[in-house]
Amino acid sequence: MASVNSNYNNLKQNYLFYEVGQRAKKYSGQNPDKKVIKLGIGDVTLPLAPVVVEAMKKAADDMSKAETFKGYGPEQGYGFLKDAIAGYYARRGVRLSTDEIFVSDGAKSDLGNILDIFGKDNRVLIPDPVYPVYVDTNTMDGRDISFVDANIENGFLPLPQEGMKADIIYLCSPDNPTGAAYNKEQLKKWVDFANAQSAVILFDAAYEAFVADENLPHSIFEIDGARTCAIEFCSLSKTAGFTGTRCGYTVVPNELEADGVKLNKLWLRRQTTKFNGVSYIVQRGAEAVFSDEGIRQTRENIDYYRRNARVITDALDRLGIWYCGGLNSPYIWLRCPNDMKSWDFFDYLLSEANVVGTPGEGFGRCGEGFFRLTSFSDYDSTREAMSRIEALLK
Ligand code: PLP
Repeated sequence: MASVNSNYNNLKQNYLFYEVGQRAKKYSGQNPDKKVIKLGIGDVTLPLAPVVVEAMKKAADDMSKAETFKGYGPEQGYGFLKDAIAGYYARRGVRLSTDEIFVSDGAKSDLGNILDIFGKDNRVLIPDPVYPVYVDTNTMDGRDISFVDANIENGFLPLPQEGMKADIIYLCSPDNPTGAAYNKEQLKKWVDFANAQSAVILFDAAYEAFVADENLPHSIFEIDGARTCAIEFCSLSKTAGFTGTRCGYTVVPNELEADGVKLNKLWLRRQTTKFNGVSYIVQRGAEAVFSDEGIRQTRENIDYYRRNARVITDALDRLGIWYCGGLNSPYIWLRCPNDMKSWDFFDYLLSEANVVGTPGEGFGRCGEGFFRLTSFSDYDSTREAMSRIEALLK
């Protein structure tokens, strides 16, 4: 008789975005005259850059001719894209060899799939609040998870502490949901801690393109010692609006070992067995993202979201509300005024300002009392939403 993976019974009902959607829908149904503005979503709204679309059209054309048609490609990605990614890292002085780069259909898949190469007995350390995928994917495998608290005291950037033990450590910088970003000294502490414990850091750099402060790292491989303790996950979803187009990449350094085994070789084995690569057309679009013109065009979109973030943070500054994020991230993480709980504040904003955000409690215990706004809406709606919030909370 077939049996199921009973670890799935231990998953928490993931009701966050469903519940947000339901409450917003119910309010709109009862108040059809009210214009509800959504600053809750984590999805981009601007279209792909023209240079990307052109490259994909040309690639589609390649597929129409026998001489340039492509069938199965290399599982780890075409050389042209891996070269382009290596070139992108080289701009910041990070040298990668192309066999350390694995192209994928996005960071979420790789973050889940990477666990295939780790034993189930690894102790996992995850910041709280957090992008829920790290918790759920380990719960599915039955791994032991402990949490490190992120809070106002540590600026939502927790550091290793005395007595902490871990085999796998998740870090996300700039972070979802808090928007906080580690500096090099802080990341160095994690790298030293991981090397000392022979632990592996799974570093999620999905929001690296939003880093505006020149002193902050975009990649963990900007930190000395990271090549022996870290795997980096990155994505074109937020960098270049690929949430629906799907392309990302994972970097596994050749030096990285666990149990005396090279993780790069294990990951290659896993990918060649279970993955057949990203479509040629999408990879050509992704290559264009890393061209000079692609970087210029995609940064224009990011600047647009940055301007929205500034509208949000300027209003919070005027209101004297504590927040982090926004500067190096599309997310702004604020403390709910008057010690309100996250869901109470959600309902209050929805009914009194007709603005939808995301209650922090949905990202973990330490998110209670906080709230996430995003800069992914359009400029006029963001301004309108923040002027309503300002009028309400003044
Ligand atoms: N990592 C973080 C922190 C995210 O917020 C997201 C998406 O929202 C992802 C990874 C997933 O990215 P992708 O679209 O490449 O799967």
